[in-house]
Amino acid sequence: MQIDINKISNSRIAEVDFNQLGFGKVFADHMLVAEYADGKWQKATIQPYGPLSFQPAMMSLHYGQAIFEGMKAYRSDAGDILVFRPEENWKRFNKSAARMCMPEVPEDIFLGGLKELLKLDKNWVPSQDGCSLYIRPFMFATDEYVGVTPSSTYKFIIFNCPVGSYYAKPLRVKIETEYIRAAKGGVGFAKNAGNYGGSLFPTQLANKEGYDQIIWTDAATHTYVEEAGTMNLMFIIDGALVTAPTGDTILDGVTRKSVLQVAKDWGMDVQERLLSVEELVKGIESGKVQEAFGAGTAAVIAPIQTIGYNGKDYDLPERKPDGFSAKVYQEINDIRLGKKTDTRNWIWKA
Ligand SMILES: *Cc1c(COP(=O)(O)O)cnc(C)c1O
Repeated sequence: MQIDINKISNSRIAEVDFNQLGFGKVFADHMLVAEYADGKWQKATIQPYGPLSFQPAMMSLHYGQAIFEGMKAYRSDAGDILVFRPEENWKRFNKSAARMCMPEVPEDIFLGGLKELLKLDKNWVPSQDGCSLYIRPFMFATDEYVGVTPSSTYKFIIFNCPVGSYYAKPLRVKIETEYIRAAKGGVGFAKNAGNYGGSLFPTQLANKEGYDQIIWTDAATHTYVEEAGTMNLMFIIDGALVTAPTGDTILDGVTRKSVLQVAKDWGMDVQERLLSVEELVKGIESGKVQEAFGAGTAAVIAPIQTIGYNGKDYDLPERKPDGFSAKVYQEINDIRLGKKTDTRNWIWKA
């Protein structure tokens, strides 16, 4: 696919304080926009980041055909722009698309477009410690039509945000026993917008009780631990790495996959299995559960300090610098920054 390029005349980069980035509030100069109609991708353009216009009847606003991805680019010491496993995000994006009756986005638009975009916006990839360029590909239905049916036209867009580190302090999370995120047969494995809209209210309630995030449990019985807001959950129990198996209700995280691979390479016992809330809280009390953490692109590894369940708080042991979550963070960080040989072929050079 030919990508037309319409460059900005003046970069906004001089207005940005790279020491105060926060997360998701600063946008790089350009975006890629591709349009789908008549059964095929028609054209792709790189243009200045800015407003789009649409009709009030645009279908995605009404019936939720909207999906997204998220991955990060880093600047290596040698000045290369490195992206962590973006082919995985491309494949997952197309799985989300299939579930939502949306067209697949071909590799030359998703990854080829990203490469062109990063060439233009390479100065927006921060070099400060802990900072990166967050890449947000997404797609939404654009037909002007009132009726619940798949749209015939779509837009696929990628924009980029230079970001600081996501979570500063270890998390307090609450095990949710009333609301649900995803049910068997549903869309929990897809990164579609509605999943996140539905999570806002219960998360707000948890925030009011002093928790940062929710641990979702299985929708039918609230017996088993599933995942967190935008992170998969992992535990070190008696020295083994334990995480929920992927399926209908769990987002198949690239960070999850990477952490499991590193653990296997280190010879650890890796258990993808159901973990009941009861086993978890009893294990914290008895000291069997040594670590708990979230794994996701935004934070990479987010250590958990406290887990709340039925009004009681269970504290994890203090995090050790030589504990698994600290070591695996270091390993993945070194790989994505190009500081360590990429033996697993995870790095994609833009
Ligand atoms: C994106 C996401 C994750 C983490 O996936 P990564 O590919 O590691 O970023 C986990 N859970 C949910 C619900 C998510 O949306």
